[in-house]
Amino acid sequence: MKRILLSSPHMSGNEQNYIKDAFDTNWIAPLGPNVDQFEKDIAAYAGVKGASVTSSGTGAIHLALDILGVGQGDSVFCSSFTFIASANPALYLGAELTFIDSETDTWNMSPKALEHALSDAKKANQLPKAIIVVNLYGQSAQMDELLEIANHFHVPIVEDAAESLGADYKGKKSGTLGKIGIYSFNGNKIITTSGGGVLISDDEEIVAKSHFLATQARDQAPHYQHSVVGYNYRMSNILAGVGIAQLQVLDDRVARRREIFETYYQELSSIEGIDFMPELENTKSNRWLSALTVDPTIIQLNPYEIMDKMNEVNIETRALWKPLHLQPLFKNNKFYSNNQSEKATSTLLFERGLCVPSGSNMSDEELTRVIKQLQNILRGC
Ligand SMILES: *Cc1c(COP(=O)(O)O)cnc(C)c1O
Repeated sequence: MKRILLSSPHMSGNEQNYIKDAFDTNWIAPLGPNVDQFEKDIAAYAGVKGASVTSSGTGAIHLALDILGVGQGDSVFCSSFTFIASANPALYLGAELTFIDSETDTWNMSPKALEHALSDAKKANQLPKAIIVVNLYGQSAQMDELLEIANHFHVPIVEDAAESLGADYKGKKSGTLGKIGIYSFNGNKIITTSGGGVLISDDEEIVAKSHFLATQARDQAPHYQHSVVGYNYRMSNILAGVGIAQLQVLDDRVARRREIFETYYQELSSIEGIDFMPELENTKSNRWLSALTVDPTIIQLNPYEIMDKMNEVNIETRALWKPLHLQPLFKNNKFYSNNQSEKATSTLLFERGLCVPSGSNMSDEELTRVIKQLQNILRGC
């Protein structure tokens, strides 16, 4: 039986036209008409003033932190429950990371834990230069609450919306609530350019600075002149062509992923011990990955045992992100839990959760196959 993947690229067919344009006009470079159009299209879609496309989402986070003045010895706060790419750029800049736990309504940054961390930092006269808030699996964090706290301490938020492109938060596009937002177009994301990312902001100066830094920080001069450290982080004009066509079908992709989540929910939520990732009121997740948790006191299986059983029938599933405060790389970093006594919320979710196939190109037959297997495994047949 054909392997069913977690999330694979889903082309519309129209991408080839923009790639052909790039070849026909010989714009085979990290600049050109496709890049300009893709940036305009993303800014229009998100409803922000500007966008700066990059070679990866990680690169966009790196640029965002650099623009906010993060440097050697500075402090940066980051969601613990996320992929390593959210945090690595702070290390590139020599900053110290402090990790913030999740809350249970969105699985994202806990406002309570953030407030605790910021109060402590203020007392120690070590407020962070930036807070990286991640919107996991397509669900926006509690941005109103997080922004109120961050604004109180005058610390800017970078929204890592790599996974939440196309999702909404109270009528706004996810990724547009912080001072800077980033999306990723990596191959497994809801839309893709094979690899790529973008920095978005309502502050045009920030977007201009991103373009400048991503182009080796080249000063305006008749020769090559440089006053600050820059990067080579621009997106290829060929890949931007893929992005233009992908963005045109983003809303369809969101609709299909939400439909897949709904189907899982209808078919599996009646099994005792199974819970699904919640969706916060007045928000719309893009359901990039359908995620569920298994209560070990009711179902005697951990996520790895379920993953192994699914693998035997050629279906890919995956554990939730291992929280960064549990990573060997960060064993000496500070962490603020959402809970006083018991385990951290992100730790509990990690121990119980898994992601199931969610690709928008999955057929109804494949979805049924996944559901049947999950029913068998979780009901213990
Ligand atoms: C994918 C991802 C990134 C990084 O994006 P790349 O384009 O792969 O560099 C950052 N943060 C999160 C949460 C992601 O899932």
